[in-house]
Amino acid sequence: MTFLFDKIIFGPVSSRRLGVSLGINLLPENSKYCNFNCIYCECGWTPNKSAGKVSFHSREKIYEALDAKLLEMSEMLTPPDVLTFAGNGEPTLHPHFAAIIDDTIELRDKYFPNTKIAVLSNASRLHIVSVFEALLKVDYNIQKIDAAYEYTIHRINQPKADFSLSGLVENLKRFRGNVILQTMFLEGEYLGESIDNTSDEHILAWLKIVQDVAPSEVMIYTIARDTPVETLRKVSIEKLNQIAASVQELGIKTQVSS
Ligand code: SF4
Repeated sequence: MTFLFDKIIFGPVSSRRLGVSLGINLLPENSKYCNFNCIYCECGWTPNKSAGKVSFHSREKIYEALDAKLLEMSEMLTPPDVLTFAGNGEPTLHPHFAAIIDDTIELRDKYFPNTKIAVLSNASRLHIVSVFEALLKVDYNIQKIDAAYEYTIHRINQPKADFSLSGLVENLKRFRGNVILQTMFLEGEYLGESIDNTSDEHILAWLKIVQDVAPSEVMIYTIARDTPVETLRKVSIEKLNQIAASVQELGIKTQVSS
């Protein structure tokens, strides 16, 4: 069973990758909104909705919710390690994403100056100047790149809007290293065809992209919860560790979650 977040602020939860994380869901509650339709998405399939029909929470309501939660956590002396933008879809689709990042920096500095801010994004909106510049302000700018071939990335992520791997790579390079790459490795079948982004040939092509983008870090992971496609399989920890070792040979820090 896939799941959706039912609040703007969720947690804190102990994150596989980031430590004690207070989540911020900029998307509507109990409904997914994304411009991708990843076959492994923990939120389930993306419903067909146009942006005009989506009721985003206002910037003010998000500010109030975060302010109230951080005040409560500061009174309880329980600082989060990280404030994480994730949730029911792609956070950069919120029309006031950049302003909300500024608000979050202000509130973080007020309550917990040592807490980090993370954004988990599918990297599809980096061509928008305000989005790109806002991402440069956060501590963990985590961008998804799930494959090294156009065909494979389209099959895994099923982007709804115009999207190309070559454009994505060019945009990632513009961060000049101020980016963390995140890749989901998986195996299995989808619509009668094999899906596998862990073959030697694919890993070599992916490593070449990693080298070109030169991120500060790479996070690799595999399926941990239910996915909309039931014929996908987790990649073994041995294989993930092997991939991580190849990234480390490039001199890039790598984190594995399985
Ligand atoms: S980009 Fe993220 S939220 Fe969107 S479909 Fe993929 S995994 Fe789900």
